[in-house]
Amino acid sequence: MEQTRPSILIAGGGTAGWMTAAALSRFATGHDIVLVESEAIGTVGVGEATIPQIHLFNGALGIDEAEFLRETKGSFKLGIEFDGWLREGDAYMHAFGAIGRGAGLLPFQHYWLRARKLGLAKPLQRYSLNELAARTMRMQRGRRAPGSPEMPYAYHFDAGLYAAYLRRYSEARGVTRHEGLIASVQRDGESGDIASITLDDGRVLSADFFIDCTGFRGLLIEGALETGFDDWTNYLPCDRAMAVPCAGGGDFTPYTRSTARRAGWQWRIPLQHRIGNGMVFSSAHMGEDEAASILLANLDGEAQGDPRPIRFRTGKRRLHWNRNCLAIGLAAGFMEPLESTSIHLIQSAISRFLAVLPSGKPGQAVIDHFNAQADFEWTRIRDFLVLHYTANQRTGEPFWDAVRNMELPATLTDKIALWREAGFIPREHEELFTEVAWFQVFAGQGVEAEGHNPIADTMAEADLRNLLDGTEAALVEEVRAMPRHIDCLQQTISATKEPA
Ligand SMILES: Cc1cc2nc3c(=O)[nH]c(=O)nc-3n(C[C@H](O)[C@H](O)[C@H](O)COP(=O)(O)OP(=O)(O)OC[C@H]3O[C@@H](n4cnc5c(N)ncnc54)[C@H](O)[C@@H]3O)c2cc1C
Repeated sequence: MEQTRPSILIAGGGTAGWMTAAALSRFATGHDIVLVESEAIGTVGVGEATIPQIHLFNGALGIDEAEFLRETKGSFKLGIEFDGWLREGDAYMHAFGAIGRGAGLLPFQHYWLRARKLGLAKPLQRYSLNELAARTMRMQRGRRAPGSPEMPYAYHFDAGLYAAYLRRYSEARGVTRHEGLIASVQRDGESGDIASITLDDGRVLSADFFIDCTGFRGLLIEGALETGFDDWTNYLPCDRAMAVPCAGGGDFTPYTRSTARRAGWQWRIPLQHRIGNGMVFSSAHMGEDEAASILLANLDGEAQGDPRPIRFRTGKRRLHWNRNCLAIGLAAGFMEPLESTSIHLIQSAISRFLAVLPSGKPGQAVIDHFNAQADFEWTRIRDFLVLHYTANQRTGEPFWDAVRNMELPATLTDKIALWREAGFIPREHEELFTEVAWFQVFAGQGVEAEGHNPIADTMAEADLRNLLDGTEAALVEEVRAMPRHIDCLQQTISATKEPA
């Protein structure tokens, strides 16, 4: 007798839906995968900056980098510049990769903190390969010398083209796509699980498992299952965005720029064919008209259309996985793109799901474990974002005064206290942002550490000076030998397909 294969239905075909479909088509080959999306509804249409973990996703799918960059009009990204976040006119970078090197037993920050007290330390950017390269528009793929680590980088890309690319990938691997509007969701009368969805033309699609990628709507996870939402607006009060692409112009920077504005911030993401721009802001402090005019007044080139408003609520579903339904992407929740984390959260949900892929009815222990991991990941990212806001010195601006004085989550208060007291940055479990990431934002946002590890005091002052100056000189030399970002990109794009 022929055995039926377990089936998974993905509702929604934005970045989340097609990333999920692509990964399942590659790894869940014993399952039937169906995706439903509605062109009439469309996608959120933003989401263009990533973090280096994207390599793991594309790599697992066997995607060729040159082809990917060609298809998505992508560019390289070495970090994020925060302009005006501490105060107007001040800028720092959260660059990917290490800061400093050869610091012996302790993380570099302790030597830097001591050197600062002695007046020997320069700003952090002098000890960051990625930032030095980014600021001089340089970039290198691969190893710079035998045995040297590769320069960590991420991508900027056109999210719509990425989804289209992954759609072709998925359909070539057997994913069935249905065009149509989901009109209703049916639950099993006995178990309460989702049984099927009905499209507005009357088609009924049933499956064993459902993945909700319907965006902010959360048609299955919330609409049908009423899972509930943890609202984090008290920590991250921005609730609106205005987005507009513009013609390229100015510098083709290998980094994302985030510029603080009166009641929020503006993003700038350079792609091959245009620059992605947007304003994220708090509607309690600024109207859409003002946000749009600030945005339009600060573009590198001519706007390609009118700014498009997007409304959101920051927070996450109380459960990402509820019964036989998993929410991925905006259906699972949203945190503003300050550190480009949403696409990463999609990929990490996919990889956690693949690790426990249910072949029948998923057990509660697996579901609880998944949700606990998601909670941890989301709350730690939230804390990192909140740090950027709370540590501002933009006094006299109502929005910035409010976020400076907000009550902080205890997890963040603890982290700040450890830094202030001892220059100590513990990285717990598998939290996304490393010590180096926190270090850069602490330093960039002017959060002073009073202490440092006394082991750093055992280094003679002359050695400390040599450590810092030697590191800087070596990095400057390395960067000088790198090609320009634009040349590196062009060379990569014109490369022929690399063997699988
Ligand atoms: C302002 C802003 C800026 C962002 N910037 C970044 C960034 O720089 N980096 C980053 O990593 N992330 C960013 N993000 C997040 C990123 O855009 C999303 O994580 C990503 O696009 C995934 O969206 P999604 O697929 O979950 O939802 P959507 O793109 O909204 O897709 C939803 C899908 O569901 C379908 N659908 C909905 N309802 C129905 C229905 N009734 N019937 C059938 N189909 C339906 C739609 O047609 C669509 O296919 C940003 C988000 C916002 C709001």
